[in-house]
Amino acid sequence: MIERASVLVAGGGIVGTGLAWSLAERGIADVVVADLDLAGVYASSELNAGGARATWWQTVNIASCKATLDFFRAHADAFGFRPRGYLWLYDDAALFATALEKRALQNRFGLDVEALAPGDLAARWPLLDRAQDEIVGATFSPRDGLVNPNAVRSFYRERAEAAGVRFLNRQYVGGVVTELVAGAAGVARRVSGVELVEVSRGDVADEDGVVRQILTRHHVPARRVVGERRITCDVLVNALGAWSPLLSAKIGLRDPTEPVRRQIALVDVRASDLPPGVELGELGMIVDASGLYFHPEGGHVLAGYSTPGEPPGFGFEYDGDAFFEGEIWPRLAHRASSFERCRHLRGWAGLYAVTPDRSGIAGRVGGFANLFEAHSFTGRGVMQSYGIARNMAALIATGRFDDVDLAPLARERFDDPSRWVPEALHI
Ligand SMILES: Cc1cc2nc3c(=O)[nH]c(=O)nc-3n(C[C@H](O)[C@H](O)[C@H](O)COP(=O)(O)OP(=O)(O)OC[C@H]3O[C@@H](n4cnc5c(N)ncnc54)[C@H](O)[C@@H]3O)c2cc1C
Repeated sequence: MIERASVLVAGGGIVGTGLAWSLAERGIADVVVADLDLAGVYASSELNAGGARATWWQTVNIASCKATLDFFRAHADAFGFRPRGYLWLYDDAALFATALEKRALQNRFGLDVEALAPGDLAARWPLLDRAQDEIVGATFSPRDGLVNPNAVRSFYRERAEAAGVRFLNRQYVGGVVTELVAGAAGVARRVSGVELVEVSRGDVADEDGVVRQILTRHHVPARRVVGERRITCDVLVNALGAWSPLLSAKIGLRDPTEPVRRQIALVDVRASDLPPGVELGELGMIVDASGLYFHPEGGHVLAGYSTPGEPPGFGFEYDGDAFFEGEIWPRLAHRASSFERCRHLRGWAGLYAVTPDRSGIAGRVGGFANLFEAHSFTGRGVMQSYGIARNMAALIATGRFDDVDLAPLARERFDDPSRWVPEALHI
């Protein structure tokens, strides 16, 4: 029975798992990760699109994603990393002008982003044969690409376990125990431990729905409680993704993060409908001016669209044909005649953890001697995971970030709008 952790990481998604590994690599013993469901049936880390890019508009996001992509590149086979690029189409001249300005910053990081005129598209992307007159320009970032997020998380987990990290499954973080401590800077609050509720459940695919029930209602039904215990810890890290605000609220903090449902459809496209010479599998990510994004996935096309006005909430219902026919198909067919006859196969929904400026929250939690956080990475948590994990581990171990300065991602920025880190290239 584990009763003590040096660092307790709440949340075993890609961020918490990567962080735990990074801590152990720094020689920190007794790192423990606690999660309700390490299979991650409702974790964003298992429900995302697998896009990986460093082309953002904010230095902290570019730098942390670039560090992650360099890592993906170094393990390309293990992670299924395919650097096939991101093509980003613009139909708004002002937005495209800003994209060109930001390209200078991106290329200072060695991203080799190209600016394309509308006339460049037909020859290089013959698939996109429709409505080209509305496109004012495009960028192509050849070093970005696609990755298998499950392979990345498994890699972090295997390495973490090999380095001594212990992963506790079926443990719901139900409470945080704090105390007051006097220090040089006055009295501060300190986390002394967490209260875990051990949950019984069915098989890994959550056939009995208990994981979903708990993760949407935030309460463990009494008949599912197997046991309760407290683990003391020297340091607590909140890495609960879209659920992080619930932990923060337990200690009187209000996070600006909202969970928002995002849907993805898997689409079948006949090879005979494609223009001569076009192989779906050779494409990277294409982000249409309409906000639709798509890329090849296992012989099909994975297409996502963030429906405007989607209300915040812990929703996992996939709208099925209504989503495909209302949002996906019209946008695909508007841009490419090859998609005119495409077919909806299936799809799913997961959560974005959305902040007001669309950048994540990472750092030490002010007012607490030993509380840290890394969460709310909107649609960027996979591609940012390594950069965040390494530098958060450095902060916890040494008090300083390492190669990427994550200070702009501190929660305190939301007190002052001039310190926000607005990220426009979110999809
Ligand atoms: C549709 C969609 C598409 C996306 N596309 C991309 C993309 O292309 N590229 C990209 O980089 N990112 C993408 N993202 C975002 C990315 O998936 C997330 O940013 C990332 O997975 C967040 O990881 P995390 O570890 O912070 O959170 P999660 O993976 O959500 O992990 C949080 C964990 O906390 C656990 N948990 C919650 N509450 C409790 C509790 N009280 N006690 C114990 N455990 C608890 C959950 O079981 C879960 O395992 C996408 C997301 C979605 C939904």
